[in-house]
Amino acid sequence: MSRKTIVIVVLLAVFSLGVIIAGQVFWVRKAYGIQERQFNDHVRLALTNVVEEILIMNKDSAVTEPVVQKESNFFVANINDTPSPFLLEKLIKDEFERYNLTEDFEYGIYDCFTDSIVFASRVSYAVDDKVVKPERVSITSKFEQDGHYFGVLFPNKTTIILKQLDFWMYSSIVIFLIVIFFSYTIFVILRHKRLSDVKTDFINNMTHELKTPISTIGLSAEALLNPNIAGEPSRLTQYVNIIKNENQRLRSQVDKVLQIATLTPKKVQVKMEKINLHDIIGKASSAFKLALQEDGGEINVTLNAGNPYINGDLVHITNVIYNLIDNARKYTEDIPQIKIETSNENGQVVVKVIDNGVGIAQSHLGMIFDKFYRVPTGNLHNVKGFGLGLFYVNTIMKAHKARIHVESKIGKGSTFTLRFKSAE
Ligand code: ADP
Repeated sequence: MSRKTIVIVVLLAVFSLGVIIAGQVFWVRKAYGIQERQFNDHVRLALTNVVEEILIMNKDSAVTEPVVQKESNFFVANINDTPSPFLLEKLIKDEFERYNLTEDFEYGIYDCFTDSIVFASRVSYAVDDKVVKPERVSITSKFEQDGHYFGVLFPNKTTIILKQLDFWMYSSIVIFLIVIFFSYTIFVILRHKRLSDVKTDFINNMTHELKTPISTIGLSAEALLNPNIAGEPSRLTQYVNIIKNENQRLRSQVDKVLQIATLTPKKVQVKMEKINLHDIIGKASSAFKLALQEDGGEINVTLNAGNPYINGDLVHITNVIYNLIDNARKYTEDIPQIKIETSNENGQVVVKVIDNGVGIAQSHLGMIFDKFYRVPTGNLHNVKGFGLGLFYVNTIMKAHKARIHVESKIGKGSTFTLRFKSAE
């Protein structure tokens, strides 16, 4: 699949997911609104009937506004006298049942003569929760009105309405699963695309790296086929040596790729011993000093760690430091100025390898530790490598339960920070 097709597929998928989610949210909200309005209407009608029944019983005159909805889940019914709690509860329950409202509710009776709530209780339809003591009823804090009245509160109103939206709940779960499935598919497509890009880059790179020794061997072999060469033993030896050296170089390259490519933190054989990072850094920096001086550059080492000891594998940790210095040198277009600093922080030995090189763009930083990953440079192959150096470094750090972190700015340089647990 071409890059353009993938971008289009992903955009379309994201757009369709957005439309599906927005549509579902819209319809669920709409259905909730309708259900809530119906619930409020039923409660208002039921309570109006209760008020009328009380007024008839007391032979009182009608009230102007029998039921007022004070809050989303709180209704107040105006009456002219204080009803008996037993009677009121029965009337409310009967009326609610007529409207299929068999959900828990609280009610409270306010008496304006004593300016107090004379009774408050909760009616529960749950089997083992028949009566709740009045002091546990939340409705008592809701009264602040003149005249006689009683209030009805539905503590679980949202849940009651949501329960009635079961179709929408199930469809939302199905849509949620579809969204997850779709998102996972997009993720797999993108990962697949990235892996296939990395593979293509690796093959190009490998071909490029192997072409030179193969053609050198070919040319030397052809020269050896020349009948005149038998009379020139020095040239003969020269060509044979070229073939031998190039063959060795090819073998070591292939071995290196095969060895590192199959490496995992669990597979790494580490021979743990107490090692001095300052010694390793000292040796590594001296090894690079000459080559750097030839380029006019330098390597500066600042060893501030009071305790440079860690438990680690001498060979692998040495390779890690070499790899980082080698990269610092390879990926610098100016005169290389490499710094290595050590310190102790929170029981750790911290090593920083700092360069003034080309830097790595933010978008690539997360991938440079992946196997075969190289920051794309178009068709330029001016810096050799297989994208395995940092993969190796990261694998070794993981095998040591140590951490690596990179900070980088394009054109300014990069800092690779290693953190190891200090050895006692
Ligand atoms: P390679 O064999 O290509 O050097 P690495 O795994 O060592 O492989 O590095 C992966 C990629 O990370 C390199 O191709 C390079 O683009 C980038 N990189 C690594 N180290 C540096 C650095 N110090 N400065 C800039 N880029 C770097």
